[in-house]
Amino acid sequence: MAKKSFKQFGVLAIKLKDRQKKYTRIELTSKEKSELFIEGIVTVILLILLNLASYMLIVQIAQSSLSIQNLITNIMPSIYDTFYNPNFLAWKKPIFFLLGIIDIAILYWRLIRRYKQMQQRHIISELHYISNGHYDHRIPFDLNGDLGKLIQSINALVDSTVEAIDEERRIEQSKDELITNVSHDIRTPLTSIIGYLGLIEERKFSSEEELLKYTHTAYMKARQMKVLVDDLFEYTKVRQSNTPLSIMNFDMQQLIGQVVVDFELEASKKNVTVDFEATPPSLMMEGDTEKLVRVFDNLLSNALKYGVGGKKIIIHSEKIGSEAVITVKNDGKEIPKESLDLLFDRFYRVEESRSQQTGGTGLGLAIAQSIITLHNGYIYATSESQWTSFVIHLPIKSLQV
Ligand code: ATP
Ligand code: MG
Repeated sequence: MAKKSFKQFGVLAIKLKDRQKKYTRIELTSKEKSELFIEGIVTVILLILLNLASYMLIVQIAQSSLSIQNLITNIMPSIYDTFYNPNFLAWKKPIFFLLGIIDIAILYWRLIRRYKQMQQRHIISELHYISNGHYDHRIPFDLNGDLGKLIQSINALVDSTVEAIDEERRIEQSKDELITNVSHDIRTPLTSIIGYLGLIEERKFSSEEELLKYTHTAYMKARQMKVLVDDLFEYTKVRQSNTPLSIMNFDMQQLIGQVVVDFELEASKKNVTVDFEATPPSLMMEGDTEKLVRVFDNLLSNALKYGVGGKKIIIHSEKIGSEAVITVKNDGKEIPKESLDLLFDRFYRVEESRSQQTGGTGLGLAIAQSIITLHNGYIYATSESQWTSFVIHLPIKSLQV
């Protein structure tokens, strides 16, 4: 799981890097540029008119108002001089300078405001483009301030929505695959059962021995179906991450010892020796024993079934730090590298074992992995020319409450 989240983080980082590369400035269209230009011209004209009006007003007020005249004459004679200076240019300068600064500020504010409106228009049209089904598109503008933050939030929102849709699709697809696999695996034995029962129904048997043979085959096929249905039920149960475990204190070495004893007879029939190396001899830990037995059962029966040409099964269980590390290995034919990662997928069976008549359902390792994951542990497989190993890491103290 840790590996997966690291991978996801990596993918996210690459995505972000790519996106940063793709960020561009907003390019105004020629229509927008002329709109901006006209806005500027109109504003300048309005400002000139406003300036003239303000200037006239100030002069009018200053000349007509007695109190202002008094104020100017008595308190600020220098300004009075300036106002009534016959040299017109001398006193208009400061007023026009002040008005000029105010004009530039107003012009800047109006143009920026209009430019921001245009930026918003671009963002809205990008949003329309995405909402029309182009979910791989992101708003590519590199802006500062609130609009920049808005773009980042929209892109992040689209990212998470797309991820949620993808996840939904994956779940849907995986459900479809499950139904296809199950119907295929149920149909095969069911066809045989109907076939043999049909022969009996139509009395197409020549002796009681033949009748018994037909019923036996139908019975075996029905049992095979039952195993599949049971496995499927178990699989769907342990797949949910909130499946409750009945956690108890137990001795792992004792538990493995019992499973090994159950397999010894079957192994000796196949001339296979089963060695159990328990270091330390007792390993007290917490876990759901019933489910863990299911894991070891499957690993041992797999080792017996698929260790083609093998003569040895070794189970090694030890305590490393806060974990119990259990290895189940068998000699025999190596599992091809390309199959190793797929072994834990439900219904996956290495090609040769698929064709075997006695083969299982291909759910055993998927169930085992889910059980180990429920215990906050992990399982993996390795296979070399001599040994095929399944390694389980289980925390000694269960983290489930
Ligand atoms: P089930 O366990 O549900 O009855 P299964 O044994 O086919 O069916 P898994 O236990 O999931 O399913 O195993 C999947 C496949 O992995 C097997 O079909 C087999 O091809 C391969 N496999 C598993 N264990 C070994 C092993 N020890 N050596 C070689 N191949 C193995
Ligand atoms: Mg199996």
